[in-house]
Amino acid sequence: MHQDLVAALDIGGTKIAGALVDSTGGLLVRAQRPTPSRAPAEEVMAALAEVLGELAASPEWSGVRAVGIGSAGPVDAKGGTVSPVNIPGWRDFPLVGNVRERTGGLPVTLVGDGVAMAAAEHWQGAARGRAGALCMVVSTGVGGGLVLGGELHPGPSGNAGHIGHISVDLDGDSCPCGGRGCVERIASGPNIARRALDGGWRPGPDGDVSAAGVAAAAAAGDPVALASFERAARALAAGIAATATLVEIEIAVVGGGVAKAGEVLFAPLRRALAEFATLSFVQGLEVAPAQTGTDAGLVGAAAACWNLEGR
Ligand SMILES: [Zn+2]
Repeated sequence: MHQDLVAALDIGGTKIAGALVDSTGGLLVRAQRPTPSRAPAEEVMAALAEVLGELAASPEWSGVRAVGIGSAGPVDAKGGTVSPVNIPGWRDFPLVGNVRERTGGLPVTLVGDGVAMAAAEHWQGAARGRAGALCMVVSTGVGGGLVLGGELHPGPSGNAGHIGHISVDLDGDSCPCGGRGCVERIASGPNIARRALDGGWRPGPDGDVSAAGVAAAAAAGDPVALASFERAARALAAGIAATATLVEIEIAVVGGGVAKAGEVLFAPLRRALAEFATLSFVQGLEVAPAQTGTDAGLVGAAAACWNLEGR
């Protein structure tokens, strides 16, 4: 029987995933429910309670010592509440209290999902052994987390490194966050697809109008699709270069669905970084694809829990 397990929760607008994670990052028991993202607060909590209930029914549950939560943001780690942009029913929702109550008073650690991803990449992925790293998720939205001084840096509220809402275009389009010209507004998957469609790109026979469809067209040389990825890459590069200049990271790790485009994204990203990261102390900045894959949110929630519990 395993001891010192963490019950990890990964809460997003599409699904609520849970797992019992051991000290090697192994996932022993899993549970998942779709997120009723448009439902009232109690209904979303009921879906989460089902995930917890399924995990608690496992004989391994007796080894659980703590709960780690990575949630779509913003989160408030101090207050124990979350207000995920894409779950409107949850505004200042007391998530930590609810989870603690349903798990018999176990200690609960809450971070944003970008911070969880950074914890996973620093533990077992492309940022392993690095003193300074920015780890990003580029998918429906753009999130991220920081490693500074060799340690996860969630910030006081658990949101530090949220690169998606740094402005890189002063006169750019307004962003759902209330800002303007944000990295996410230019580089997220839906924005890559929208820009390509606006430019006259049309999907192939499979009808895929997502960023993955644009990526396939770009790989085949379609100039409008290439231009849309180029623009996304430049926005990411500007945000990464700004971060590196501020806090001296040595590597930027990029994951999420859009990063699956591979060199269609990474080639223009490296070119644009050379253009924006010009000062001597950021010229050596590396960029690499994430390595932790689809379980990064769960592994990272557990890693953040072990990382931060003692602090
Ligand atoms: Zn924004």
